[in-house]
Amino acid sequence: MGKSTLINAIEPGLHLKTGAISEYHHKGKHTTTFSEIFPLTGGGLLIDTPGIKGFGLVDIEPEELARYFPDLFRYAARCQYYNCTHTHEPNCAVTEAVAKGEIPESRYVSYLKMLEDDDKDGKYRK
Ligand SMILES: [Zn+2]
Repeated sequence: MGKSTLINAIEPGLHLKTGAISEYHHKGKHTTTFSEIFPLTGGGLLIDTPGIKGFGLVDIEPEELARYFPDLFRYAARCQYYNCTHTHEPNCAVTEAVAKGEIPESRYVSYLKMLEDDDKDGKYRK
């Protein structure tokens, strides 16, 4: 099942909108991938994240990865460093929220896993 089939099942009116976005992405060579958030009529949000298809296929800098985790990124705004990778930096709001149980540890672990996958030169490996 394709992404548009799923989107149609969830919110029929969104199909055209997301289709236009995907086409735009395919045309540009260095198009920045970004997350789109669509409010659903039944309540809740649909988050379309083109970059999440596979980090090997899209150029995402390790310090940008948190943007694809909206629940983590909410906290990232309060990190001391704007390019915080939320691994070893001091005064990191994300690791503090994980420690306090505000972010589920499983979410943080999948973030770390993707960071490691994306980190070809081992720059951020602990
Ligand atoms: Zn941080």
